[in-house]
Parts: sequence; C-alpha cells; structure tokens
Amino acid sequence: MAFALNTYPITYRSQFTDGKWSGEYLEKPHKTPEEEAAMNADDRVRLENSRNYYDDMPLVNYTSQYGLACFEGLKALPQKNGGLAIFRPDQNAARFARSMTGLCMPPFPEELFMEAVTETVKRNAQLGFTLKYNSDWEKDSYMTADSVYIRPFTMGEGGIGVNLSIEPYVMVITTPVSAYFKPGRSDALVTDKIRATPNGTGWIKACSNYVISALAKSEALKAGYMECVYLDATDRKYIEEGSSCNIFFYLKSGELVTPELGDTILPGITRASIIELSRDKGLKVSERKISIDEAMEETKECFVSGTAAGATPLTSLTYKDKKAVFNDGNEGDFTVDIRDTIKGIQYGKLPDTKGWLVQVI
Ligand SMILES: *Cc1c(COP(=O)(O)O)cnc(C)c1O
Repeated sequence: MAFALNTYPITYRSQFTDGKWSGEYLEKPHKTPEEEAAMNADDRVRLENSRNYYDDMPLVNYTSQYGLACFEGLKALPQKNGGLAIFRPDQNAARFARSMTGLCMPPFPEELFMEAVTETVKRNAQLGFTLKYNSDWEKDSYMTADSVYIRPFTMGEGGIGVNLSIEPYVMVITTPVSAYFKPGRSDALVTDKIRATPNGTGWIKACSNYVISALAKSEALKAGYMECVYLDATDRKYIEEGSSCNIFFYLKSGELVTPELGDTILPGITRASIIELSRDKGLKVSERKISIDEAMEETKECFVSGTAAGATPLTSLTYKDKKAVFNDGNEGDFTVDIRDTIKGIQYGKLPDTKGWLVQVI
C-alpha cells in the first residue's frame, strides 16, 4: 500500500442547519502513537487511511458534483520553548468567512473557527498526536521543519441541481507535515494556463481554483521545473502568483515587489506578514504590477510565499524561449533573511513582538 493520508484521529465537523451551526468533535480509529509506529507498514497505512472515511456524509453534493467549496490552511508550530502555537489564526478565520460569503454560503463565525481549530489541535495532542521542536531545523532556517497542518474546509450538503450551498458542512482535520519544497535549486516555468480571471473567484480560497493549479504544476514538473508562475488573464504580461503561492521579487534596485491584490490574487497571510516584516527592516516594499519583462531583467532574488511554502526561492524563470537565472542559481541573502525572520517568529526562536502566535498547548 503506497500512500497514507495520515490525519490525526480527532476531527471537527459542523453543519449549518435550522439557521445555526452545530459542531461536534469526532474520534476516528486510532491506537496510541507509539503503538501505531510499531505496527507493520501495511496495517498502519490501512488504519491511517480509515480515518479519512465518513459513512454518514452525502456522496452526491454541491462540492463533489460542481466543486463549490472553499478551504483554509494554517499551521500549529512546535515552539522552541515547548508546546504548539498557531500563526495568525484570526486572519484565516476572517478569510474563511470572506471566502464562504463570496461563495454565497452562510459564513462560519470567526470565533467558532478559532475554537474549532485550537480545540482540534489540543484534543489530538492530549491523545499524544503532536510534534516536538527539533533544534536541527535552525540549521537551514526551518526549510525542513515539521508542523501540524490544519485544514478547515467546507463541503456541500446533498443535492444534484446546480444550486448554492445553503446548509454546508465545515470540517477541520489536522495532519503532520514536513517541508513542502525541497531546498536547493528551483526553476520555475511561466505557464500559459490562466489561474484566475477578472470578476471570477481568484480572490477566494475556492477549491475550484486548484484545478488549473494542479494541471499547470504537473505540466511544469513534467518539463523538469519545480514550480509554475501565472500571468494575468487580460494583458498576459503581468505576474500574478506561483502555482498556489504568492510571489515576491527583490529587485537589483533594492525594492521588494509583490503583485498588488485584486480579484485575481489570493490575499496570503504569509504575503501580508512578509510585507510588514520587510518594511520593519527598512526596505522599500511595493504592491504593484510587475511585468514578466521587468521581472526577468531586474530581479536579484525571487521567492514564493505561503503557509506551505514559507518563503521558498525560485532560482530561475523561464518564459517562452528565454530563461533568467537569479543570483547565479543560488538562494539569495534576502530570501534567507526574511525566512529566518518569519520562521523564527513562528517557531518561537525570535520574540513574537506583534502578537501573531496563539499558544495552544
Ligand atoms: C492559500 C494560498 C496562498 C497563500 O496564502 P497564505 O495565507 O500565505 O497561506 C497563495 N495563493 C493561493 C492561490 C492560495 O490558495
């Protein structure tokens, strides 16, 4: 058996019925973490996979049929001085409510989101499903650090007509994750696929946006690249995002540029945090349009940002038959510095002067 989705045993489920949210914590099949680690691989994978099945939920629903759904992604990070803390969950709570409203669903209340997310992490930790800090992570500025990934998402109620979801479920699952990208060289391909169009859903963390992402990324991987980069739908000229991350260009002039938000760009919380931290460092940070030509000619360092990606360098960009290599193909000093800063705060190595962490255990 090849692949296990190893979700932790406690999951949260709520549904909007009779005008209110009714939440519950479900305990899926498990042993102790030590007993699970001692199982033979096939049995362990079977047990872990079994936690992903819910036989009391509708198969034919507005999500499985039409992709009507949205999600969030955030992390509980093992702290240097012990326990787990979540990075800026209030921002995810607000964005989740905006996404749901954008999809004409009843928004999940922000205080319920905070409670569901922290309780799910806490209850799993009480069963022993948690992670501990490892000081080896400091050696590569947390490029390979582990965390508990938290995935809140909506799922449609049963139905087959093309309708809005008025009684959606909200679920929260957690799973341990390691680095999303491998350290080292990472070439990116500018794709001709279009992720988001004006007046569309690009600003919503909508599941349907990920169809194009998955297609474009697999094309890029097949062609030997690690990541793909999107241009805007109208002029086919301005850079928008990486495959599922925001993107930054540290120019030779010393200016840090990231595409300005609009309805085709997802307002990343990592993006906002990097902008704020870079301004604190005295950098000129601009949220503005950046054309592919400017990016290829003027960039000193480029990186993508997101909860999964952290701040991951892109060491080259290939567009049509042109390739621009940044910083001789190596990760640049600014990229390392900003990752050190944000990851240092997230893992409790640097002081959390902005009050961005919510300690869970
Ligand atoms: C989630 C996401 C991001 C990153 O957002 P963070 O809040 O930083 O994790 C960027 N782009 C897209 C398309 C996303 O879905």
